[in-house]
Amino acid sequence: MTLTPEQQAEIDELRSQPRQTLRAVSEGMEAHLYKAVPVLDHGFVRVVDYMGDDAAITQAARVSYGRGTKAVSNDEGLIRYLMRHWHSTPFEMCELKLHVKLPVFVARQWIRHRTANVNEYSARYSILDREFYIPEPDALAAQSVVNNQGRGEALSGEEAARVLEWLKSDAGRAYDHYQEMISTEGQQGLARELARMNLPANIYTQWYWKVDLHNLFHFLRLRADAHAQYEIRVYAEAICAMVKDWVPFAYSAFEDYRLGGAVLSARGLECVKRMLAGEEVTQETSGMSKGEWREFSSMLDG
Ligand SMILES: Cc1cc2nc3c(=O)[nH]c(=O)nc-3n(C[C@H](O)[C@H](O)[C@H](O)COP(=O)(O)OP(=O)(O)OC[C@H]3O[C@@H](n4cnc5c(N)ncnc54)[C@H](O)[C@@H]3O)c2cc1C
Repeated sequence: MTLTPEQQAEIDELRSQPRQTLRAVSEGMEAHLYKAVPVLDHGFVRVVDYMGDDAAITQAARVSYGRGTKAVSNDEGLIRYLMRHWHSTPFEMCELKLHVKLPVFVARQWIRHRTANVNEYSARYSILDREFYIPEPDALAAQSVVNNQGRGEALSGEEAARVLEWLKSDAGRAYDHYQEMISTEGQQGLARELARMNLPANIYTQWYWKVDLHNLFHFLRLRADAHAQYEIRVYAEAICAMVKDWVPFAYSAFEDYRLGGAVLSARGLECVKRMLAGEEVTQETSGMSKGEWREFSSMLDG
């Protein structure tokens, strides 16, 4: 279950009490505020708070006193200019605070992004819920034969059934023992901080994660990318949908220059120029390694 009825009631109550404010408000983000977007089988991501909007970015870039916009099109053009030229500090004027529920192995990838503020649910203090990520059959993939860090086709038949059964039964058994170890019935009960070490990495944890827009874009660039692991990518995609509504100009510039754009090396740029001049360039004549050429070609093939 993603949210208990009590948790949903708390969210509904928060959303039922709008307040007036003098601060910048993004109508798009107000629609998301507090609501949980389900991700994976028990996870979610939800906006707890935010600061700023598209105008806050241009306001900071111009160091202006008021909202500072002459025309909306000027703001959009300026934001595209800032993104194109890596003038990043104006994007740091916007902040996002999320509440995320995610499997521990996803959290391990996520926490590598050091430029955020994090507070995680304490399994020293509290008892973890009996909730484990079990992949949907189409996400139960085989090891990729071309990429050591990737996955290939989905497993099928008996192999898929056996793997699913192991994932479920191992997690269930580990949780049963966790409960028995911390139980105080007829025993002293092992400390929670020790009992948790036996739990598998697909158990869910939760945290509050606060980040500025510049560093959030960096996170999304890496984790909403097709090469990111599926289980973190689905969170990044859910966040992308929120950011799109929050700061539509900034998101559209990010989508264009970063998410959908590509970076060319000097050699790559030279090859493109030679191709445009009508030359047939091959890996052998490109000056690139096989790996570089493969990535360069797939970039051009889209
Ligand atoms: C597809 C993929 C595969 C990966 N595989 C592996 C792997 O096999 N093993 C592994 O260990 N990690 C792996 N990572 C994690 C990766 O190396 C980064 O740790 C992670 O993506 C966070 O990126 P970051 O450091 O740029 O982000 P942040 O920590 O948010 O930092 C943002 C930027 O701030 C600057 N910065 C932050 N802290 C410092 C600092 N202390 N010193 C200098 N500059 C700093 C850097 O410019 C950095 O790019 C992988 C990531 C991806 C997306």
